[in-house]
Amino acid sequence: MNVSAVSRSRVAAVVLAALASVVLLAAARSHVQTAAPTSPAASRDAPAAPSVAPAESARAERARAESARAESAPLEGAPRATATVIWLTGDVLLDPAFRRSGAASGDPAEAYASMIAPVAKHWRADGDDATVIANLESPVATLRREPDAYLEQAEEIFERTGHRRIPSPLNAPQSLLDALTRSGVDAVSLANNHALDQDRAGLAETLDAAQARGLATLGAGRSDADARAPRFYGPAGARIAVLATFVRDRAEPPWLSANEARLSVVDARTIDEVRRAAETSDAVIVAVHVVAELLARPTPGTRELTASLIAAGADLVVVHGPHVVAPVERIESGGRRGIAAFSIGNFVSDMGKEARPGREDAPRFGDDAADKWHDPRTRSGLVVRVALTPGSALDVAFLPTWMHSDRWLIDQGLAQPPITFSVEPLAACGPPLQLRAAWPPEGYDAMESWVARHRDAALAAARITSAACARCTEGAPCRWRGDAHLLRLQ
Ligand SMILES: [Zn+2]
Repeated sequence: MNVSAVSRSRVAAVVLAALASVVLLAAARSHVQTAAPTSPAASRDAPAAPSVAPAESARAERARAESARAESAPLEGAPRATATVIWLTGDVLLDPAFRRSGAASGDPAEAYASMIAPVAKHWRADGDDATVIANLESPVATLRREPDAYLEQAEEIFERTGHRRIPSPLNAPQSLLDALTRSGVDAVSLANNHALDQDRAGLAETLDAAQARGLATLGAGRSDADARAPRFYGPAGARIAVLATFVRDRAEPPWLSANEARLSVVDARTIDEVRRAAETSDAVIVAVHVVAELLARPTPGTRELTASLIAAGADLVVVHGPHVVAPVERIESGGRRGIAAFSIGNFVSDMGKEARPGREDAPRFGDDAADKWHDPRTRSGLVVRVALTPGSALDVAFLPTWMHSDRWLIDQGLAQPPITFSVEPLAACGPPLQLRAAWPPEGYDAMESWVARHRDAALAAARITSAACARCTEGAPCRWRGDAHLLRLQ
């Protein structure tokens, strides 16, 4: 799906504003790390596979393995204490299967926290001062009636493709927020196309629920000013500003009540906001949500917007919304250099639920219609780690992840419902997962090679593949973090 004509005109206005600012920006700061020379030598430094567990106790073994992994030795490569460290995740979309699984556990918050624990331990290794920002792509609110706009959209899809796919308004239980706080998440970005799925009142409820748990919010607020305000992290010399905003794909439905919660959307003010944030910080991150489902390349509109944001003072632009990984690129614009991650994919989602080993040729809806349920790319993601030390370049690295579930085992009668989910950090070289002890031997190799293939595809899409399997030594573009790799652009 492309940005609408309205959005394109807004982007054009933004770009014009950026061009007018080029002179002012010529001397702008540039904190972005330049390309570091690296060894092209491939070195397999993946972990050794643990022993195989009996099939009949797969779930118990999995639980024990999860526990053992959570308690594994401290991760290598802890940052210097003076660094300001920020982690950003892709979309968190709690689909019905997650809610069933959480409810069946008796303690949904704990179930969701366990699900993301394999990745959370990586940001926890950076200490309590590290800030973690998740893109929460659903309200956490009282469920309201299904908005008519969705039904109209469903009709349009039906007319175009012959398939009835009603994109239901999203909503998540408040236990998800408990799980995020337990997992070390500090803030949620809410500027996305599902933020108003339960009306403005639902967004207001979401803001209340986050505030009650000490979760900061970005990209939404009680007023326009609050929604659009940057958040600042770190001390002088290593102060990072973070803005979250959204390229709106359609006009807001008319029934939305006014004067309640507000969203930050990309418009003619955006460039000035980024420029002001840059004047009072040492680095600027802009998180941009777009509606461009399953597009593994940025649209021209996203590319233009990114260039104008970097020209205005952004050092890193992180895009989410396409649900698949897109290229990470160095961008020069307006005399400045920055990094654009054109889509970091999903973090928690049940998209790709129909994809599994041996089902690559499943029928899809229509020719060009997005079929996120059959698309295994939606299971891949990049979690971004940003660190800024006074006097140093902004350090940007990516942790590849995979949304794992045992649905395939359940299909084969090797496990019982409900489905067990986990977000797995991926080793970039060799076997991608450390799940051997937690998976019955039947089908393990097929599962692992399937994950490896899609991991390689995601890293290729991100264009950081060449860095992925270089030797992990100090100064190299990847850093071994216990059971996964942090990857940098070469
Ligand atoms: Zn979205």
